[in-house]
Amino acid sequence: MIVMKFGGTSLGNAERIRQVAGLIERNSDSFVVCSAMSGITNTLVEIAGLWKSGKCEKADDLLDEIASHFEQTCYDLFRDTEALTNSTRVVIEIFDLIRNRISGDYNLHKENWLLAQGEIVTSKLIALYLNSADIPVTWLNALDFISTGIDGEPSVSDIRDRLNAILGENRHGRFLTQGYICLDHEGNISNLKRGGSDYTATLAGAALQAVSVEIWTDIDGVRNNDPRIVENTFPVRELSFDEAAELAYFGAKILHPSCVWPASSNNIPIHLRNTMEPDAPGTIIRSDIKRKGITAVAAKDGITVIRIRSDRMLNAYGFLNRIFAIFEKYRTPIDVITTSEVSVSVTIDNPCHIKEIESELGSLGSVKTETGQAIVCVVGDILEQHQDRAVRTLDSLRHFNVKMISFGGSRNNISVVVPREEMKDVLRSLNSYLFGNQSPKPDSWLISQA
Ligand code: ADP
Ligand code: ASP
Ligand code: MG
Repeated sequence: MIVMKFGGTSLGNAERIRQVAGLIERNSDSFVVCSAMSGITNTLVEIAGLWKSGKCEKADDLLDEIASHFEQTCYDLFRDTEALTNSTRVVIEIFDLIRNRISGDYNLHKENWLLAQGEIVTSKLIALYLNSADIPVTWLNALDFISTGIDGEPSVSDIRDRLNAILGENRHGRFLTQGYICLDHEGNISNLKRGGSDYTATLAGAALQAVSVEIWTDIDGVRNNDPRIVENTFPVRELSFDEAAELAYFGAKILHPSCVWPASSNNIPIHLRNTMEPDAPGTIIRSDIKRKGITAVAAKDGITVIRIRSDRMLNAYGFLNRIFAIFEKYRTPIDVITTSEVSVSVTIDNPCHIKEIESELGSLGSVKTETGQAIVCVVGDILEQHQDRAVRTLDSLRHFNVKMISFGGSRNNISVVVPREEMKDVLRSLNSYLFGNQSPKPDSWLISQA
């Protein structure tokens, strides 16, 4: 069994869906994970925002727009009259239900229900299309097997138990389900956060002990830098699980930040592939990669730096523990941390509880918060053979306003924090320093530069 995940970028219109159907047809034993058609979740998020702020007319207009987009997709996709009728009926029924729901009062549970509808409609249409095209597939409701615990995290063994109960001994054939959506620990519809279909795919892959998880998207593999910002990026053909996890966590949008661990802890390779160029090699993520140089750079913005200053604090037994306990209490993960005798600086990317955190940290020392920062992360085997590579990499950033440096936490990562406005230039500057301005450089080039 292999898992194949198709992102919204691969499901933009009827033509793309046909192309995806051709890829699904190639594998007779597959577990297919679909996200919502391109742009739909963004629009649903917008609708939820309008609904929350009482702008119901505008919300209804946007809802009509996406309903027509789905209906048009049905007309473009289905040639068979019965399949066309069935598919438009699915769209009409689900959108009637949505209109009905959003005519009532807003609450977060209803918002999460609304956000799930993009994946539900899309997966139903694709399943109908595959079955009408003689590519038999069984539609599964992801809410029957993907859920999160009280800590907000899914468990592979729970997913495995539920899938075993649903699939029984029968592991042959094609199954198709929704990415992103799940139930929370109280049984309410929720989600695995934006981009979460990648996570569904690796969770299902781990639960099913799949041979591999294929993530199909709109680009040939993980690039050595963010292609939305830097020109002349090139694909990295192989990544270790650790490198991929660092890149995903620190901003490479092609992978959901948490999607690597289910695959790495079950040693299942992840293969990133391009729907538009199915025969391109893409990127393989697996355990046994021997690396000699720096692999890639990624960045995420929207970062807040919090500095806690107190005299002789590190000498005080349990001081860091008291700081961490406050972040734990507000379920706010820390990304980067640096310490000195008199101060500790941490970064967070979820500022929801910043006021409460600042106030409680205030009892430990003086607290200064800076919003609008970015983390830029250099990934690869940074310590291998050429230890001065880290120093030179940092030296190449001497013209930027580097606020924090984290190095040595693992041999895979150097992270720096810079003001958000400098992030793009830092990425470009690192690109020309580390990789030259053209593509692709062999590892020997990196070594000779070091
Ligand atoms: P999907 O809809 O298939 O999930 P995403 O938009 O989530 O697709 O991810 C693919 C996009 O990620 C690419 O189109 C690219 O713009 C962006 N991206 C950001 N960083 C990287 C990177 N390092 N390598 C490849 N793509 C990247
Ligand atoms: N549709 C969801 C999103 O846009 C999930 C995904 O694409 O992976 O975030
Ligand atoms: Mg994605």
